[in-house]
Amino acid sequence: MNAELFNPFTIAQQQVDHASEKLELDEATRELLRWPMKEIKATLPVKMDDGSTKIFHAFRIQYNTARGPAKGGVRWHPLETMDTVRALAAWMTWKTSVVDLPLGGGKGGVVCNPKELSVTEKERLARAYVRALARSLGVTKDVPAPDVYTTPQIMAWMMDEYETIIGENHPGVITGKPLALGGSKGRGDATARGGVYVTREAAAVAGINLQGATMAVQGFGNAGQHGALLGEEILKLKLVAASDSKGGVYNPNGISAEALVDYKIKNGVVQGFPGTDEITNEELLALPVTVLFPVALENVIRADNAENLKCRICCELANGPTTPEADRILDDKGIFVLPDFLANAGGVTVSYFEQVQNAYNLYWELQEVHWRLDKRMTQAFASVYEMSQRNKIHLREAAHLVAIARVAEACKLRGWV
Ligand code: NAD
Repeated sequence: MNAELFNPFTIAQQQVDHASEKLELDEATRELLRWPMKEIKATLPVKMDDGSTKIFHAFRIQYNTARGPAKGGVRWHPLETMDTVRALAAWMTWKTSVVDLPLGGGKGGVVCNPKELSVTEKERLARAYVRALARSLGVTKDVPAPDVYTTPQIMAWMMDEYETIIGENHPGVITGKPLALGGSKGRGDATARGGVYVTREAAAVAGINLQGATMAVQGFGNAGQHGALLGEEILKLKLVAASDSKGGVYNPNGISAEALVDYKIKNGVVQGFPGTDEITNEELLALPVTVLFPVALENVIRADNAENLKCRICCELANGPTTPEADRILDDKGIFVLPDFLANAGGVTVSYFEQVQNAYNLYWELQEVHWRLDKRMTQAFASVYEMSQRNKIHLREAAHLVAIARVAEACKLRGWV
Protein backbone atom coordinates (compact mmCIF):
# COMPACT_ATOMS: atom_id res chain seq x y z
CA MET A 1 0.00 0.00 0.00
CA ASN A 2 1.35 3.41 -0.92
CA ALA A 3 1.17 5.56 2.24
CA GLU A 4 1.56 8.70 0.13
CA LEU A 5 -1.86 8.04 -1.41
CA PHE A 6 -3.37 8.52 2.05
CA ASN A 7 -1.32 11.56 2.98
CA PRO A 8 -3.93 14.35 2.98
CA PHE A 9 -1.37 16.90 1.80
CA THR A 10 -0.48 14.73 -1.22
CA ILE A 11 -4.20 14.61 -2.05
CA ALA A 12 -4.50 18.39 -1.62
CA GLN A 13 -1.55 18.92 -3.98
CA GLN A 14 -3.05 16.55 -6.56
CA GLN A 15 -6.26 18.58 -6.47
CA VAL A 16 -4.28 21.75 -7.17
CA ASP A 17 -2.43 20.03 -10.02
CA HIS A 18 -5.67 18.88 -11.58
CA ALA A 19 -7.35 22.30 -11.32
CA SER A 20 -4.20 24.07 -12.56
CA GLU A 21 -4.18 21.87 -15.64
CA LYS A 22 -7.84 22.61 -16.40
CA LEU A 23 -7.36 26.33 -15.76
CA GLU A 24 -4.15 26.31 -17.86
CA LEU A 25 -2.25 28.16 -15.11
CA ASP A 26 1.39 29.04 -15.72
CA GLU A 27 4.16 27.01 -14.05
CA ALA A 28 4.98 29.55 -11.32
CA THR A 29 1.34 29.89 -10.22
CA ARG A 30 0.93 26.12 -10.13
CA GLU A 31 4.00 25.70 -7.96
CA LEU A 32 3.00 28.56 -5.66
CA LEU A 33 -0.48 27.12 -5.07
CA ARG A 34 0.94 23.65 -4.31
CA TRP A 35 2.69 24.88 -1.13
CA PRO A 36 1.88 26.76 2.06
CA MET A 37 3.27 30.30 1.94
CA LYS A 38 4.24 30.24 5.61
CA GLU A 39 4.69 27.43 8.11
CA ILE A 40 5.30 27.86 11.81
CA LYS A 41 6.37 25.06 14.11
CA ALA A 42 6.52 25.84 17.82
CA THR A 43 7.53 23.78 20.84
CA LEU A 44 5.46 24.73 23.88
CA PRO A 45 6.56 24.02 27.46
CA VAL A 46 3.42 23.99 29.64
CA LYS A 47 3.19 23.61 33.42
CA MET A 48 0.92 20.75 34.47
CA ASP A 49 -1.24 20.83 37.61
CA ASP A 50 1.13 18.42 39.40
CA GLY A 51 4.03 20.87 39.01
CA SER A 52 5.73 19.00 36.14
CA THR A 53 6.34 20.58 32.73
CA LYS A 54 5.10 18.92 29.57
CA ILE A 55 6.34 19.75 26.07
CA PHE A 56 3.74 20.12 23.29
CA HIS A 57 4.37 20.38 19.56
CA ALA A 58 2.30 22.99 17.76
CA PHE A 59 1.79 24.11 14.16
CA ARG A 60 0.28 27.02 12.32
CA ILE A 61 0.09 27.08 8.53
CA GLN A 62 -0.75 30.21 6.56
CA TYR A 63 -1.41 28.56 3.23
CA ASN A 64 -2.16 31.50 0.98
CA THR A 65 -2.93 35.10 1.88
CA ALA A 66 -3.34 36.63 -1.59
CA ARG A 67 -7.06 37.27 -1.04
CA GLY A 68 -6.79 38.36 2.60
CA PRO A 69 -5.56 37.32 6.05
CA ALA A 70 -5.27 33.59 6.75
CA LYS A 71 -8.36 32.06 8.35
CA GLY A 72 -8.81 28.65 9.88
CA GLY A 73 -9.31 26.64 13.04
CA VAL A 74 -6.91 25.23 15.61
CA ARG A 75 -7.18 21.46 16.18
CA TRP A 76 -6.07 19.72 19.36
CA HIS A 77 -5.52 16.10 18.47
CA PRO A 78 -3.14 13.34 19.61
CA LEU A 79 -2.39 12.31 16.01
CA GLU A 80 -1.95 15.80 14.57
CA THR A 81 0.77 16.11 11.90
CA MET A 82 2.22 18.96 9.91
CA ASP A 83 0.94 17.39 6.67
CA THR A 84 -2.64 17.15 7.96
CA VAL A 85 -2.54 20.80 8.98
CA ARG A 86 -1.03 21.75 5.59
CA ALA A 87 -3.83 19.95 3.74
CA LEU A 88 -6.55 21.47 5.92
CA ALA A 89 -5.02 24.91 5.42
CA ALA A 90 -5.11 24.41 1.63
CA TRP A 91 -8.76 23.36 1.84
CA MET A 92 -9.56 26.44 3.95
CA THR A 93 -8.01 28.58 1.20
CA TRP A 94 -10.37 27.08 -1.36
CA LYS A 95 -13.31 27.26 1.04
CA THR A 96 -12.98 31.00 1.77
CA SER A 97 -12.44 31.58 -1.94
CA VAL A 98 -15.44 29.59 -3.16
CA VAL A 99 -17.76 31.70 -0.97
CA ASP A 100 -15.83 34.79 -2.08
CA LEU A 101 -14.75 35.97 1.37
CA PRO A 102 -11.86 38.48 1.42
CA LEU A 103 -9.74 35.98 3.33
CA GLY A 104 -6.99 33.46 2.73
CA GLY A 105 -6.68 30.02 4.28
CA GLY A 106 -4.87 28.73 7.34
CA LYS A 107 -5.00 26.02 9.97
CA GLY A 108 -3.37 25.25 13.28
CA GLY A 109 -2.83 22.19 15.39
CA VAL A 110 -1.39 21.05 18.69
CA VAL A 111 -0.38 17.43 19.30
CA CYS A 112 -2.16 16.65 22.56
CA ASN A 113 -4.94 14.60 24.08
CA PRO A 114 -7.43 17.16 25.43
CA LYS A 115 -9.31 14.41 27.29
CA GLU A 116 -6.25 14.02 29.54
CA LEU A 117 -5.90 17.75 30.28
CA SER A 118 -7.58 19.58 33.16
CA VAL A 119 -9.33 22.91 32.55
CA THR A 120 -6.38 24.85 33.96
CA GLU A 121 -3.91 22.86 31.84
CA LYS A 122 -6.00 23.62 28.74
CA GLU A 123 -5.94 27.31 29.60
CA ARG A 124 -2.15 27.30 29.98
CA LEU A 125 -1.77 25.40 26.67
CA ALA A 126 -4.07 27.87 24.85
CA ARG A 127 -2.10 30.81 26.21
CA ALA A 128 1.26 29.18 25.37
CA TYR A 129 0.09 28.65 21.77
CA VAL A 130 -0.76 32.33 21.39
CA ARG A 131 2.46 33.50 23.08
CA ALA A 132 4.48 31.45 20.59
CA LEU A 133 2.55 32.75 17.58
CA ALA A 134 1.45 36.25 18.60
CA ARG A 135 3.66 38.08 16.10
CA SER A 136 2.16 36.10 13.23
CA LEU A 137 -1.47 36.43 14.33
CA GLY A 138 -3.79 39.43 14.03
CA VAL A 139 -6.82 40.73 12.18
CA THR A 140 -4.65 41.68 9.21
CA LYS A 141 -2.49 38.55 9.31
CA ASP A 142 -4.10 35.36 10.55
CA VAL A 143 -7.33 34.72 12.46
CA PRO A 144 -7.77 31.33 14.22
CA ALA A 145 -11.10 29.75 15.22
CA PRO A 146 -12.36 26.63 17.04
CA ASP A 147 -11.97 23.22 15.40
CA VAL A 148 -11.58 19.63 16.57
CA TYR A 149 -11.54 19.68 20.43
CA THR A 150 -11.17 23.45 20.72
CA THR A 151 -14.09 25.44 22.10
CA PRO A 152 -15.38 29.02 22.46
CA GLN A 153 -13.83 29.05 25.97
CA ILE A 154 -10.42 28.16 24.52
CA MET A 155 -10.88 30.98 21.96
CA ALA A 156 -11.66 33.37 24.83
CA TRP A 157 -8.36 32.50 26.59
CA MET A 158 -6.47 32.84 23.31
CA MET A 159 -8.00 36.26 22.62
CA ASP A 160 -7.22 37.41 26.15
CA GLU A 161 -3.60 36.30 25.85
CA TYR A 162 -3.22 38.10 22.51
CA GLU A 163 -4.76 41.32 23.87
CA THR A 164 -2.53 41.13 26.95
CA ILE A 165 0.56 40.84 24.74
CA ILE A 166 -0.33 43.72 22.42
CA GLY A 167 -1.98 45.84 25.13
CA GLU A 168 -5.09 46.61 23.08
CA ASN A 169 -8.66 45.41 22.63
CA HIS A 170 -8.60 43.23 19.51
CA PRO A 171 -11.49 40.74 19.59
CA GLY A 172 -11.28 40.12 15.81
CA VAL A 173 -8.00 38.20 16.26
CA ILE A 174 -10.05 35.06 16.94
CA THR A 175 -13.52 33.99 15.86
CA GLY A 176 -15.91 31.48 17.41
CA LYS A 177 -15.73 33.43 20.68
CA PRO A 178 -18.51 33.34 23.26
CA LEU A 179 -21.24 35.95 22.54
CA ALA A 180 -20.29 37.93 25.66
CA LEU A 181 -16.78 38.51 24.24
CA GLY A 182 -17.74 39.56 20.71
CA GLY A 183 -18.99 36.33 19.15
CA SER A 184 -21.61 36.60 16.40
CA LYS A 185 -25.23 35.65 16.69
CA GLY A 186 -26.03 32.75 14.39
CA ARG A 187 -22.60 31.04 14.60
CA GLY A 188 -24.06 27.96 16.34
CA ASP A 189 -26.09 26.68 13.39
CA ALA A 190 -24.20 28.46 10.60
CA THR A 191 -22.58 25.36 9.06
CA ALA A 192 -25.86 23.48 8.77
CA ARG A 193 -27.79 26.58 7.71
CA GLY A 194 -25.35 27.22 4.84
CA GLY A 195 -25.74 23.59 3.76
CA VAL A 196 -29.52 23.88 3.85
CA TYR A 197 -29.41 27.03 1.70
CA VAL A 198 -27.27 25.35 -0.99
CA THR A 199 -29.51 22.25 -0.85
CA ARG A 200 -32.47 24.55 -1.61
CA GLU A 201 -30.56 25.99 -4.61
CA ALA A 202 -29.54 22.54 -5.86
CA ALA A 203 -33.13 21.31 -5.68
CA ALA A 204 -34.30 24.35 -7.62
CA VAL A 205 -31.91 23.79 -10.55
CA ALA A 206 -32.49 20.02 -10.53
CA GLY A 207 -36.29 20.45 -10.48
CA ILE A 208 -36.67 18.52 -7.21
CA ASN A 209 -39.60 19.44 -4.97
CA LEU A 210 -38.44 19.33 -1.35
CA GLN A 211 -41.77 20.12 0.30
CA GLY A 212 -42.69 16.99 2.29
CA ALA A 213 -39.79 15.02 0.76
CA THR A 214 -37.48 12.92 2.95
CA MET A 215 -34.04 13.41 4.53
CA ALA A 216 -31.60 11.22 6.45
CA VAL A 217 -28.79 12.50 8.68
CA GLN A 218 -25.68 10.41 9.28
CA GLY A 219 -23.97 11.86 12.37
CA PHE A 220 -26.48 13.43 14.74
CA GLY A 221 -23.93 15.71 16.48
CA ASN A 222 -23.67 19.48 16.46
CA ALA A 223 -23.98 20.14 12.72
CA GLY A 224 -26.22 17.10 12.09
CA GLN A 225 -28.84 18.14 14.65
CA HIS A 226 -29.00 21.65 13.21
CA GLY A 227 -29.18 20.15 9.70
CA ALA A 228 -32.27 18.13 10.69
CA LEU A 229 -33.94 21.06 12.46
CA LEU A 230 -33.30 23.50 9.61
CA GLY A 231 -34.09 20.93 6.93
CA GLU A 232 -37.51 20.70 8.53
CA GLU A 233 -37.94 24.42 9.18
CA ILE A 234 -36.55 25.93 5.97
CA LEU A 235 -36.89 23.18 3.36
CA LYS A 236 -40.00 21.46 4.81
CA LEU A 237 -38.21 18.13 4.55
CA LYS A 238 -39.34 15.17 6.66
CA LEU A 239 -36.62 13.48 8.76
CA VAL A 240 -36.90 9.71 8.36
CA ALA A 241 -33.55 8.49 9.72
CA ALA A 242 -30.65 9.67 11.86
CA SER A 243 -27.59 8.00 13.35
CA ASP A 244 -24.59 8.48 15.58
CA SER A 245 -21.54 6.34 16.31
CA LYS A 246 -23.69 3.84 18.25
CA GLY A 247 -26.23 3.25 15.43
CA GLY A 248 -29.33 4.78 13.91
CA VAL A 249 -33.12 5.07 14.00
CA TYR A 250 -35.64 4.94 11.17
CA ASN A 251 -39.31 5.70 10.67
CA PRO A 252 -40.52 6.12 7.06
CA ASN A 253 -43.49 8.16 8.32
CA GLY A 254 -41.24 10.80 9.82
CA ILE A 255 -39.40 11.63 13.06
CA SER A 256 -39.72 14.99 14.82
CA ALA A 257 -36.24 16.54 14.59
CA GLU A 258 -36.83 18.59 17.72
CA ALA A 259 -37.96 15.59 19.78
CA LEU A 260 -34.98 13.56 18.54
CA VAL A 261 -32.55 16.36 19.48
CA ASP A 262 -34.06 16.46 23.00
CA TYR A 263 -33.78 12.67 23.23
CA LYS A 264 -30.15 12.71 22.05
CA ILE A 265 -29.24 15.42 24.56
CA LYS A 266 -30.87 13.48 27.42
CA ASN A 267 -29.66 10.00 26.47
CA GLY A 268 -26.43 10.65 24.54
CA VAL A 269 -27.61 8.39 21.69
CA VAL A 270 -30.45 8.33 19.13
CA GLN A 271 -31.05 4.60 19.61
CA GLY A 272 -34.25 3.77 21.44
CA PHE A 273 -36.15 6.86 20.28
CA PRO A 274 -39.85 5.90 20.60
CA GLY A 275 -41.67 4.88 17.43
CA THR A 276 -38.55 4.09 15.41
CA ASP A 277 -36.80 0.96 14.19
CA GLU A 278 -33.07 0.42 14.58
CA ILE A 279 -30.95 0.89 11.47
CA THR A 280 -27.21 0.62 10.88
CA ASN A 281 -25.12 3.45 9.51
CA GLU A 282 -24.63 1.50 6.27
CA GLU A 283 -28.40 0.96 5.89
CA LEU A 284 -29.03 4.65 6.51
CA LEU A 285 -26.72 5.61 3.63
CA ALA A 286 -28.70 3.35 1.29
CA LEU A 287 -32.18 4.72 2.09
CA PRO A 288 -34.19 6.08 -0.86
CA VAL A 289 -34.36 9.60 0.60
CA THR A 290 -34.45 12.85 -1.34
CA VAL A 291 -31.64 14.47 0.70
CA LEU A 292 -28.80 12.71 2.50
CA PHE A 293 -26.67 14.70 4.94
CA PRO A 294 -23.39 12.91 5.75
CA VAL A 295 -22.29 14.81 8.89
CA ALA A 296 -20.10 12.33 10.73
CA LEU A 297 -16.66 11.33 9.54
CA GLU A 298 -14.52 11.31 6.44
CA ASN A 299 -14.51 8.43 3.92
CA VAL A 300 -17.96 6.99 4.82
CA ILE A 301 -19.06 6.89 1.15
CA ARG A 302 -16.56 4.64 -0.62
CA ALA A 303 -16.21 2.55 -3.78
CA ASP A 304 -17.66 -0.46 -1.93
CA ASN A 305 -20.93 1.20 -0.86
CA ALA A 306 -21.47 4.18 -3.22
CA GLU A 307 -23.45 2.01 -5.60
CA ASN A 308 -26.06 1.48 -2.82
CA LEU A 309 -26.90 5.17 -2.38
CA LYS A 310 -30.38 6.14 -3.56
CA CYS A 311 -30.62 9.77 -2.47
CA ARG A 312 -31.13 12.51 -5.06
CA ILE A 313 -29.05 15.19 -3.30
CA CYS A 314 -26.05 14.44 -1.08
CA CYS A 315 -25.15 17.52 0.97
CA GLU A 316 -21.69 16.97 2.46
CA LEU A 317 -21.80 18.80 5.76
CA ALA A 318 -18.91 16.62 7.01
CA ASN A 319 -15.40 17.20 5.71
CA GLY A 320 -14.30 14.59 3.18
CA PRO A 321 -17.15 12.05 3.51
CA THR A 322 -16.78 10.81 -0.09
CA THR A 323 -13.67 9.14 -1.55
CA PRO A 324 -12.63 10.07 -5.12
CA GLU A 325 -13.70 6.63 -6.49
CA ALA A 326 -17.10 6.95 -4.81
CA ASP A 327 -17.43 10.44 -6.25
CA ARG A 328 -17.26 9.03 -9.78
CA ILE A 329 -19.87 6.39 -8.94
CA LEU A 330 -22.28 8.98 -7.47
CA ASP A 331 -21.77 11.12 -10.55
CA ASP A 332 -22.63 8.19 -12.85
CA LYS A 333 -25.75 7.54 -10.79
CA GLY A 334 -26.84 11.14 -11.32
CA ILE A 335 -26.74 12.02 -7.61
CA PHE A 336 -26.39 15.75 -7.04
CA VAL A 337 -23.37 16.00 -4.70
CA LEU A 338 -22.86 19.31 -2.91
CA PRO A 339 -19.10 19.18 -2.16
CA ASP A 340 -17.95 19.66 1.44
CA PHE A 341 -15.99 22.87 1.06
CA LEU A 342 -19.05 24.55 -0.48
CA ALA A 343 -21.74 22.76 1.56
CA ASN A 344 -20.16 23.42 4.97
CA ALA A 345 -18.76 26.90 4.27
CA GLY A 346 -21.55 28.55 6.30
CA GLY A 347 -19.43 28.25 9.45
CA VAL A 348 -16.45 30.20 8.13
CA THR A 349 -18.80 32.70 6.51
CA VAL A 350 -20.34 33.61 9.86
CA SER A 351 -16.83 33.63 11.36
CA TYR A 352 -16.02 36.29 8.77
CA PHE A 353 -19.19 38.19 9.81
CA GLU A 354 -17.89 38.00 13.38
CA GLN A 355 -14.63 39.66 12.29
CA VAL A 356 -16.57 42.39 10.46
CA GLN A 357 -18.75 43.09 13.53
CA ASN A 358 -15.67 43.14 15.78
CA ALA A 359 -13.97 45.65 13.45
CA TYR A 360 -16.99 47.98 13.56
CA ASN A 361 -17.70 47.26 17.22
CA LEU A 362 -21.34 47.05 16.13
CA TYR A 363 -23.32 43.83 16.37
CA TRP A 364 -26.01 42.53 14.02
CA GLU A 365 -29.38 41.05 14.78
CA LEU A 366 -29.84 37.36 14.02
CA GLN A 367 -32.01 38.09 10.95
CA GLU A 368 -29.20 40.16 9.43
CA VAL A 369 -26.72 37.30 9.90
CA HIS A 370 -29.19 34.91 8.26
CA TRP A 371 -29.93 36.97 5.17
CA ARG A 372 -26.29 37.81 4.61
CA LEU A 373 -25.37 34.11 4.92
CA ASP A 374 -28.17 33.17 2.53
CA LYS A 375 -26.93 35.72 -0.02
CA ARG A 376 -23.31 34.47 0.17
CA MET A 377 -24.23 30.79 -0.06
CA THR A 378 -26.70 31.36 -2.89
CA GLN A 379 -24.11 33.33 -4.87
CA ALA A 380 -21.45 30.68 -4.21
CA PHE A 381 -23.75 27.93 -5.44
CA ALA A 382 -24.61 29.95 -8.56
CA SER A 383 -20.91 30.46 -9.48
CA VAL A 384 -20.10 26.79 -8.96
CA TYR A 385 -23.18 25.58 -10.83
CA GLU A 386 -22.47 27.90 -13.75
CA MET A 387 -18.88 26.58 -13.93
CA SER A 388 -20.13 22.98 -13.85
CA GLN A 389 -22.64 23.60 -16.63
CA ARG A 390 -20.19 25.52 -18.80
CA ASN A 391 -17.50 22.82 -18.58
CA LYS A 392 -19.80 19.81 -18.19
CA ILE A 393 -18.08 18.76 -14.95
CA HIS A 394 -19.45 17.76 -11.56
CA LEU A 395 -19.84 20.26 -8.76
CA ARG A 396 -16.75 19.27 -6.75
CA GLU A 397 -14.44 19.86 -9.68
CA ALA A 398 -16.32 23.06 -10.57
CA ALA A 399 -15.97 24.34 -7.00
CA HIS A 400 -12.21 23.71 -7.11
CA LEU A 401 -11.92 25.55 -10.41
CA VAL A 402 -13.90 28.57 -9.15
CA ALA A 403 -11.89 28.74 -5.91
CA ILE A 404 -8.42 28.13 -7.33
CA ALA A 405 -8.99 30.51 -10.26
CA ARG A 406 -9.84 33.31 -7.80
CA VAL A 407 -6.72 32.70 -5.69
CA ALA A 408 -4.56 32.47 -8.85
CA GLU A 409 -5.99 35.78 -10.09
CA ALA A 410 -5.20 37.49 -6.75
CA CYS A 411 -1.61 36.16 -6.87
CA LYS A 412 -1.22 37.49 -10.42
CA LEU A 413 -2.71 40.92 -9.65
CA ARG A 414 -0.28 41.28 -6.72
CA GLY A 415 2.58 40.60 -9.10
CA TRP A 416 3.69 37.46 -7.27
CA VAL A 417 3.63 35.36 -10.42
P1 NAD B 1 -19.82 16.33 16.43
O1 NAD B 1 -18.72 15.64 17.14
O2 NAD B 1 -20.72 17.25 17.19
O3 NAD B 1 -20.80 15.24 15.73
C1 NAD B 1 -20.34 14.15 15.03
C2 NAD B 1 -21.43 13.07 15.13
O4 NAD B 1 -21.06 11.98 14.30
C3 NAD B 1 -21.61 12.51 16.55
O5 NAD B 1 -22.97 12.42 16.85
C4 NAD B 1 -21.01 11.09 16.45
O6 NAD B 1 -21.65 10.16 17.32
C5 NAD B 1 -21.30 10.77 15.01
N1 NAD B 1 -20.46 9.70 14.49
C6 NAD B 1 -19.16 9.41 14.76
N2 NAD B 1 -18.78 8.31 14.12
C7 NAD B 1 -19.85 7.91 13.40
C8 NAD B 1 -20.08 6.84 12.51
N3 NAD B 1 -19.13 5.96 12.25
N4 NAD B 1 -21.29 6.76 11.93
C9 NAD B 1 -22.27 7.65 12.21
N5 NAD B 1 -22.12 8.66 13.05
C10 NAD B 1 -20.91 8.80 13.63
O7 NAD B 1 -19.13 17.08 15.20
P2 NAD B 1 -19.70 18.26 14.28
O8 NAD B 1 -19.18 19.55 14.74
O9 NAD B 1 -21.18 18.10 14.11
O10 NAD B 1 -18.97 17.93 12.90
C11 NAD B 1 -19.38 16.84 12.07
C12 NAD B 1 -18.70 16.96 10.72
O11 NAD B 1 -18.99 18.23 10.16
C13 NAD B 1 -17.17 16.85 10.76
O12 NAD B 1 -16.73 16.22 9.58
C14 NAD B 1 -16.75 18.30 10.75
O13 NAD B 1 -15.43 18.43 10.23
C15 NAD B 1 -17.79 18.89 9.82
N6 NAD B 1 -17.90 20.32 9.99
C16 NAD B 1 -18.45 20.85 11.13
C17 NAD B 1 -18.51 22.23 11.26
C18 NAD B 1 -19.17 22.86 12.46
O14 NAD B 1 -19.31 24.10 12.45
N7 NAD B 1 -19.59 22.10 13.46
C19 NAD B 1 -17.99 23.07 10.25
C20 NAD B 1 -17.44 22.50 9.09
C21 NAD B 1 -17.39 21.11 8.99
